[in-house]
Amino acid sequence: MINYDTLQRFLFTNGQVRGEIVRMRASYQAILERHPYPLPIRKLLGQALASVALISATLKFKGSLILQIENGGPVKVLVAQSDHEFHVRGLAQWEEDKVALEMLDCGFEEGRLALTLIPEKGERYQGIVMLQGRNIGWALEVYFRDSEQLSTVFFVCADEETVAGMLLQVLPHEIKTEQAENFWEHIRHLARTLTEEEFLTLDNEQILHRLFHEETIQLFDPEPVAFRCSCSIDRMERALLLMSHEEIQELLQAYKKVDVRCEFCNNQYTFDAVDINRILTDGKTVVSDSTTRH
Ligand SMILES: [Zn+2]
Repeated sequence: MINYDTLQRFLFTNGQVRGEIVRMRASYQAILERHPYPLPIRKLLGQALASVALISATLKFKGSLILQIENGGPVKVLVAQSDHEFHVRGLAQWEEDKVALEMLDCGFEEGRLALTLIPEKGERYQGIVMLQGRNIGWALEVYFRDSEQLSTVFFVCADEETVAGMLLQVLPHEIKTEQAENFWEHIRHLARTLTEEEFLTLDNEQILHRLFHEETIQLFDPEPVAFRCSCSIDRMERALLLMSHEEIQELLQAYKKVDVRCEFCNNQYTFDAVDINRILTDGKTVVSDSTTRH
């Protein structure tokens, strides 16, 4: 049985390679309910969500990770975010070009992928990789090879309902012996034989058996993955301060309030004249319970 909305780690017991499998259904659907994405964009967002959850599981710090795609053909921008507890959210903006959207299944002709690591304590870090001719999984493999010197396999896929992702990675401090290199090549080669259909229909144990039945694998307990948006009144006030004072005053005169919508979860935050006055004079304030959801 497939354990949806979980991330499950595993380790090849010779200790040289680690792996993770992520599955999403309710968490993916919660994101899709908020925006009517066409199928190629949904699938891409699903792949990006799987990727951020998988990478988050490799990080040693508490904080969050953002994957952003810019100018990827019809994809103007696509953002997926996960924190260290696998709370995910995402959004996409795209151009309505049916042919170009269908072509996304074959990879991006252009664009860039940025990964931003935001630790709760310490400096944020960003790495960028070009997307030419690649899909998200390939781009991330290049990123880990070039930026982190870590051999990695990413296999991420999605259909209308569910998302599946697998990461395999040589352990960072493993001493590089010829035997270890050969083992990695063997594992990598086996992983490449997995098809999307198998991955989306078989459960984790079946997948690991199908790919690596000759190896001994330690499979850890699955951890929950969930949709959660980190927007707040405080953040929306800061967003409001990015608007010009004239613009805010015009909105107030016309509607007696200013609505700011979170692009991730579609929640709407409403500020009235009293709130606005406080925000503009203090730069920061607590707003009464004026949050409404649409
Ligand atoms: Zn939100």
